[in-house]
Amino acid sequence: MNSDQAVQQETITQTILRVLRQIFDADYYPQGVARVLEQPERFEFGRALPFIFLHLGCLGVIWTGWSPVAILVAAALYFIRMFAITGFYHRYFSHKAFKTSRVAQFLFAVLGNTAVQRGPLWWAYVHRHHHKHSDHEEDMHSPGVKGFIWSHIGWMTSSRNFPTRYEHVKDLAKYPELVLLNRFDWIVPAIFALCLFLCGAALESFAPDLGTNGWQMLVWGFFISTVVLLHATLAINSFAHSFGKKVYNTDDESRNSLILALVTLGEGWHNNHHRYMSSARQGFRWYELDITYYILKLLSFTGLVKDLKPVPVQILEEAQHRASNLKSSTTAKS
Ligand SMILES: [Zn+2]
Ligand SMILES: [Zn+2]
Repeated sequence: MNSDQAVQQETITQTILRVLRQIFDADYYPQGVARVLEQPERFEFGRALPFIFLHLGCLGVIWTGWSPVAILVAAALYFIRMFAITGFYHRYFSHKAFKTSRVAQFLFAVLGNTAVQRGPLWWAYVHRHHHKHSDHEEDMHSPGVKGFIWSHIGWMTSSRNFPTRYEHVKDLAKYPELVLLNRFDWIVPAIFALCLFLCGAALESFAPDLGTNGWQMLVWGFFISTVVLLHATLAINSFAHSFGKKVYNTDDESRNSLILALVTLGEGWHNNHHRYMSSARQGFRWYELDITYYILKLLSFTGLVKDLKPVPVQILEEAQHRASNLKSSTTAKS
């Protein structure tokens, strides 16, 4: 029986078993990756289950309630993990905007993995693909081409967008420790959630005045913090390609937005980033707040990261020329 027949003859039970196995082993493709890539892009309930689980987990707050320490932990974990996504998953793994050691690289990947946005190689592959095909038919999450909701979260429920195409991230795939992390991308989030539960339970025993417990810490620190973090990250695909200001004349619909830059620690300067993706900095001008860059700069003083790539002068001048041209054409019209 060839792979075509195997796919055609798969029963519902076999499909469920395959999806469950793929949740544990993201590289498990009995029918071959090529076959998956031939499938149409569509919403798939099996692929949506992890997201449904994360969102339902937030409802646990009805039973656990809240406490100042639980909210503080949720906010701190949002901040730390957003930095891990923007600084490490995006600017380091996807764009190589700075350098670091192999050990630090692995630790950055683990920290990024706690954000529950799959493995670093899948994230980098999908993101590089986005830059290559921005707002064109091949782009997995273009709001202009595929609709706003699809660009925000729908695209993640399609099997077609699930495999990591290692041939597009060869520079990262040469590290077996990163490939292992990417393949079993659920392990770090599961340990992270367990640690939060245990910390909450320990606080209940040793500091009962704080009014928290294991379940409350799990709901706030893991579920709520992770879901807010997920939507803030995904907003760069949906909102930052729909609303905001276009400073550069790029061949896509990317926009700059201060609100998104604040929420995502600097990723909101998305039009800047699409114009010049190699820079460690996305807020190109002093008034474009880019907290991720400031933290990376601080880390560079410790030697943990180095060779932060700057924004070339001609890129900065290009925006000035475009602004003055637009101003003079507006004046001429009036
Ligand atoms: Zn983009
Ligand atoms: Zn990028």
